[in-house]
Amino acid sequence: MLKKYFHTLAFFKIPSFVDKINTIISLLQAEFPGLEPKPSKADPLDILIATMLSQNTTDKTSYIAFQNLKNNIGTWEEVLNAPISKIRNAVRVCGLTNQKSAAIKNLLKQLKQKHGELSLKYLDKMSNDEVYKELLQYKGIGVKTISCMLAFSLGRDVFPVDTHVHRIINRLGIVKAVTPVKTFEQVKDKIPDGKKFLFHTLLIRFGRKICRAQKPLCGKCRLYDVCEFSEKEKYAMLSSAEPVENNFIILEHV
Ligand code: SF4
Repeated sequence: MLKKYFHTLAFFKIPSFVDKINTIISLLQAEFPGLEPKPSKADPLDILIATMLSQNTTDKTSYIAFQNLKNNIGTWEEVLNAPISKIRNAVRVCGLTNQKSAAIKNLLKQLKQKHGELSLKYLDKMSNDEVYKELLQYKGIGVKTISCMLAFSLGRDVFPVDTHVHRIINRLGIVKAVTPVKTFEQVKDKIPDGKKFLFHTLLIRFGRKICRAQKPLCGKCRLYDVCEFSEKEKYAMLSSAEPVENNFIILEHV
């Protein structure tokens, strides 16, 4: 009798956090077969600045701004020595012009003062925690920007949390957090090793195609049964639009 009771309990075992993550990753892989993270191995400073430009805009416009800096001004040394007005003109296309141009100039200036050269290659020898500690000292650089640089340039298995990743995993009920930084803190050590960057990559594509910020296509979502979003039934009734793929990721092209 007792044996049967424990057998029944085992059958109804509540899925753990890791079980849920693994289930979601499998469902997302079915949505995007063959999708793998693509670290670009680009220069870490290039990736850091491209990520700074990508805040609050699309990857396509931030890529234009990045190209403007490179083509219209030149090397990072030349950007450092350029008048701020020229940097503003180059990045204007991606918005937050004053904030982004000042942050880039400030980063380059501090980097030069501290290390005598405009390179972040020294980070390659540091642990992830050391890199976060080091770069958080610079104004305008947050954990998401650093995580992107770690993943896309240094090939580390980390989980960058931008507004899209934050939105989706909160809707799914994986965490309950009010900001991307708090979401990052809650999940960064809990996602299975070897799957962090993969999970990020899948969520970015999923957020563009299905779990959009406005009018998510809940009626066409493979994750519907595991999702805890309180409005999923309402949006399932409104999911008449066809999903559209948008695969351009700036950090894969820098
Ligand atoms: S059911 Fe809706 S809210 Fe939940 S993951 Fe799918 S699209 Fe997003």
